[in-house]
Amino acid sequence: MEIYLDHNASTPIDEEVVEAMLPYFTSNYANASSHLHFSGRQAAKAVEQAREKIAALIQSDSSEIIFTSGATESINIAIQGLAANYASHAKHIITASTEHKAVLDTCKNLEKKGFSIDILPVNQQGEIDTEQLNALIKDDTFLVCIMLANNETGMIQDLPKISKIVHERGKILMSDATTCIGKMKVNVQELGIDIMPLSAHKFYGPKGVGALYLRRKNPRITIQGILQGGGHEKNIRPGSYNVPGIVGMGKAASIVSQNCSRWENDIRQNRNLLESEIEKLTPIFINSKENLRLCNTSNITFENLDAQNLIKFAYGKLALATGSACTSALPQPSHVLKAMGLSDKQAKNSVRFSLGKTTTKENILNATLILKDFLKC
Ligand code: PLP
Repeated sequence: MEIYLDHNASTPIDEEVVEAMLPYFTSNYANASSHLHFSGRQAAKAVEQAREKIAALIQSDSSEIIFTSGATESINIAIQGLAANYASHAKHIITASTEHKAVLDTCKNLEKKGFSIDILPVNQQGEIDTEQLNALIKDDTFLVCIMLANNETGMIQDLPKISKIVHERGKILMSDATTCIGKMKVNVQELGIDIMPLSAHKFYGPKGVGALYLRRKNPRITIQGILQGGGHEKNIRPGSYNVPGIVGMGKAASIVSQNCSRWENDIRQNRNLLESEIEKLTPIFINSKENLRLCNTSNITFENLDAQNLIKFAYGKLALATGSACTSALPQPSHVLKAMGLSDKQAKNSVRFSLGKTTTKENILNATLILKDFLKC
């Protein structure tokens, strides 16, 4: 079986999550908005219970959670929905060069519609300069988007410091925490995040379901829905509820709440083992190593190895990535690594290894053997 080291692209769904979802496919398939009958009310109750579990996971209130189809949709709703409400008096957004394409492309699209976007550069570790952020904030800035941890390198930004600056200047902070859930504690109060997209398939839940956290106590957050429909989710995201998916996401959130710190230690040990084993084989450079990183991610630049060739060689034996799954069809070198100052060649020689809670020490040692075979070729 293929050794799976691509958990930042997606994670295996937990068996307990599948079990929790099944009744909502088979015995209770009612629409959660059908309040006139028992089945509909039971489905609605299951949706609300899931909402509470997700809120508890990030230390928020259930009234602050909007269900969506995933992080891409959550990001689009948040950025476009705020922009629509601010358009008449504020048109400036600040983000960073290492953000996910869902953020960068949504911002680029707004630029075409007359908004102005400032993209902060990062240092070699992938960190933004908070003084530069402060200097860029203007009267008509309405949103700052800085992700919590990068999906390609695992690098964690100093969110408490960033949120302090953004809030002192009276602005809204959105932080993409899609990669972080299940890999680190994510507490929106401690981190000072106002808006946060989430995606269930990144934390052992199902694909096609996500959430958007919107801080209720911040009166500046007013989102105009980008879809029109039946008024679901406070009109921010109308459309029938994906009840099995939402129930699965809720179950996955509870499992993460109970187990995350234990998983974190085990995963970090395996990640460190992987790095030390690879270091013995060939000259490498580990991206963002000097900064705080997610426990599961290792982005490695090899001196003498083309990542695409390794990935082809490993096909069927070892699942790896060169960057975000959403951009893997594009031939260009990673925009994240390029923003961190790597040359095209270095970026093309870079591979992302991302581990999960089911990754074993044996997986790591076998993965290293596959790499060793490749290097011999
Ligand atoms: N943001 C980050 C950091 C991601 O890694 C991803 C997925 O790779 C997304 C957003 C988009 O998530 P989804 O697959 O739920 O649309």
